[in-house]
Amino acid sequence: MYDLHDLYQEVIMDHNRRPRNFRKPDGANRQAEGFNPLCGDQITLYLAVEDDMIADVGFQAVGCAISKASASIMTESVKGLSVEDAEKVFEEFHSMITQEDFDADVLGDAELLQGVSRYPARIKCAALSWHALNSALDDTEEKTVSTE
Ligand code: ZN
Repeated sequence: MYDLHDLYQEVIMDHNRRPRNFRKPDGANRQAEGFNPLCGDQITLYLAVEDDMIADVGFQAVGCAISKASASIMTESVKGLSVEDAEKVFEEFHSMITQEDFDADVLGDAELLQGVSRYPARIKCAALSWHALNSALDDTEEKTVSTE
């Protein structure tokens, strides 16, 4: 049997070592900055939104393993989705991380980040990129979000 805790660790480590979509995508037309002062995590999230679809997504970040892995997983989760569907994924993630009921089918691989909710000090690390996503989905203005 595969231990879920091991799986969680392995996924975080893998995404931290080889972050997916770690770049500014061509055609990026929305952007949000995120900063988690408690840990020092910083992220810039880029979306290329065309016809209300997330045609491409990428990020640049400095910070801890969890913040980078969560951002990497998030970009994979929302790439190709409509803006509306991406907002739903954000809402389900937020419910999961705050230990409320959530729809695992909507989350896909992001469900593996559920383990973070057991470590209150790390929730802000994991949530940073997701809040940046929510902010970037909102409109075309540049914004800065903070998890504080
Ligand atoms: Zn962190």
